[in-house]
Amino acid sequence: MAKRIAFFGLGNMGIPMAANLVKAGFEVCAFDLLSASVQKAVESGCSAAGSEKEALAGADFVISMLPNGAIAESLYIDGTGLLDLVHPSALIIDCSTIAASSSRRIGEEAKKRHIRAIDAPVSGGVGGAEGGTLAFMCGGEAADVEAAKEVLGPMGANIFHAGPAGAGQVAKACNNMLLAVHMIGTAEALQLGVDNGLDPKALSEIMLKSSGCNWSLEKYNPYPGVMDGVPASRDYTGGFMVKLMQKDLGLAMEAALQSKSSTPMGALANSLYGLHEQSGNESKAGLDFSSILQMFQQTSGE
Ligand code: NAD
Repeated sequence: MAKRIAFFGLGNMGIPMAANLVKAGFEVCAFDLLSASVQKAVESGCSAAGSEKEALAGADFVISMLPNGAIAESLYIDGTGLLDLVHPSALIIDCSTIAASSSRRIGEEAKKRHIRAIDAPVSGGVGGAEGGTLAFMCGGEAADVEAAKEVLGPMGANIFHAGPAGAGQVAKACNNMLLAVHMIGTAEALQLGVDNGLDPKALSEIMLKSSGCNWSLEKYNPYPGVMDGVPASRDYTGGFMVKLMQKDLGLAMEAALQSKSSTPMGALANSLYGLHEQSGNESKAGLDFSSILQMFQQTSGE
């Protein structure tokens, strides 16, 4: 008999993730506050749940992909209280990107009730969710992460165990803070070269073979026209939105505050993305995060 999954949060990420689980042979019962989202899940082969409780019936796994920590804590503990409703044999996997403190709280509350729960935020965006190539960064007991691989496998290419509850969120915050920093540095360097008469393609080739080489330059060049198929070459549409990078930088700053860590580069990246989002006549929140290059174009040579 096919194993059952209760899936909460069928948004941009949740829909393709649930669709891949259906393709892998799982019975997926979908719940979202928006009926249009549930309808999309049904079109992908899920069954619709009219309530959170209905979704949980007979679930071997509970997966959530929610917008923020307050919603996740409300779903599992304070509001709906799924932790008190779920069958004790089910494994809870929260894939939402939320504060490590929220994930730790969900983990602790689950433990009190002898329920298995892990945090498993993802990297890879909507493209990774569609292609089943997400990277999962898991926090929780090793045995629970191992058991989760059965359902994470069809949705992802890499599954990492970062440490105890909340560690997946910390890993994601660290990774995305670093991503923001090297994207900004790459954009700044490319624009400096262009302002001094260099061809951005030639400069990119030089830096790719030199010590400035990094992921943003290699896979996601922010300068328009240098690389095919990246957001910079389609007016910064698609990809990973500025507002999502701002959210992740906010979570990194929150983690740094709690651990009293010094993250000056992350703090600067956070404020630069804030300035970028508000610059110009229209909000840049919906553009891809490599559009930060525009900030250096606006301030250079004028
Ligand atoms: P989204 O806003 O498109 O989807 C979230 C869904 O959750 C919505 O359909 C909403 O109605 C639903 N929801 C809200 N409260 C609910 C509740 N109580 N019960 C059930 N459903 C509820 O967001 P998204 O882009 O799919 O992102 C989801 C999570 O994944 C976020 O935490 C985000 O930071 C993270 N993430 C997103 C991306 C990306 O590129 N979009 C990449 C990596 C990680």
